[in-house]
Amino acid sequence: MTDPILLRPHHALCLRFFEGKGYSEEYVNNAWNVLRTLRENGAFTVTAGPDVLCAACPNLGKNGLCRWQEKITRYDADAAEKLGLKDGGTYDFNAFSKTRAKELVPQICTDCEWAYICTKE
Ligand code: SF4
Repeated sequence: MTDPILLRPHHALCLRFFEGKGYSEEYVNNAWNVLRTLRENGAFTVTAGPDVLCAACPNLGKNGLCRWQEKITRYDADAAEKLGLKDGGTYDFNAFSKTRAKELVPQICTDCEWAYICTKE
C-alpha cells in the first residue's frame, strides 16, 4: 500500500481546483503528480507544517516557513475546523465533494490570489 500524502489542511481544498497554475514550473509539475496520486489512492495525512506541495514551492523558506506564513496558518486553522481535520489524522481526499470545497473557499481563502480559480462557475 502507498504511504498517505502529507497535506496542510487548506491544500485539501486548493488541490480540487488545480488547473496548472502555480508559483513555478517545478511547483506545477509536482502538484499534477500529487493530484494524480490522490485521485488514484485517496489517502492523505494532515500536517501543520510544510507538506508535499510546499516541498516544490519557491515560497518555502529554509526555516520551514512559508513566505506568507501568517495567512497560511489562518487558512489551515480555518480549513481544519470546517472540514473536521486533525493534525496527524489520515483522511480520504474524495470524502468531501468539490461542491463543499467551493462553498468553503470564499469563507476561508478571503485574500488568496488564486481564489478566483476556485470560485468561478
Ligand atoms: S510554501 Fe506557502 S505558498 Fe508555497 S505551497 Fe506551501 S503554503 Fe503554499
